[in-house]
Amino acid sequence: MNITIERIMPCLADPEKIRFVAKIDEDISEYLPYLNAIIPKAIYNHTGKSLTITMGERIITIYPNKISAGKINDEKDANEIIKWIKEKIDYCKENKEKIKPDYKRKDKLEVLHVYKLLPQKNCKKCGENSCLAFSIKLINEEKNIIDCKEIFLPEYDEKRKLLFDMLKASGYNVPSFY
Ligand code: SF4
Repeated sequence: MNITIERIMPCLADPEKIRFVAKIDEDISEYLPYLNAIIPKAIYNHTGKSLTITMGERIITIYPNKISAGKINDEKDANEIIKWIKEKIDYCKENKEKIKPDYKRKDKLEVLHVYKLLPQKNCKKCGENSCLAFSIKLINEEKNIIDCKEIFLPEYDEKRKLLFDMLKASGYNVPSFY
């Protein structure tokens, strides 16, 4: 199995970082629940066939045939992440009989991971006093991401994409047009 970077782009959420899309040259759907079993705090969406991992600020989503990642330090960092993911997939393949696949989402989203991807304007247009308060309610499903109108402004395109990917991977509702 080979994983190759197809595109490297500036990370609009953080101009000092990059994002990338990499292609996996085979369908690894069957190994996603095995990865979910061995990677702590991974967020697995069995129906949507995706596994999201946060590593520090980095947000990485693995799909059956591709990987997309944001807030990556540089190209070297991207290659190290790909190498790490490849090793994990190879490990799952080699140890399939010993690993119990995990089809459940293990963790709720963390408040700070959501907060970092919000506009952080504290404009109160969502009815909450701060973006942090909104993050807490969003995680507890007392608010929906569409309640934050600011996130739909073009300047937040990249943050919105990362946030929506993370929410979708965790089984939260995101607008159907996304
Ligand atoms: S509308 Fe969005 S940017 Fe404004 S306070 Fe609420 S979460 Fe923050």
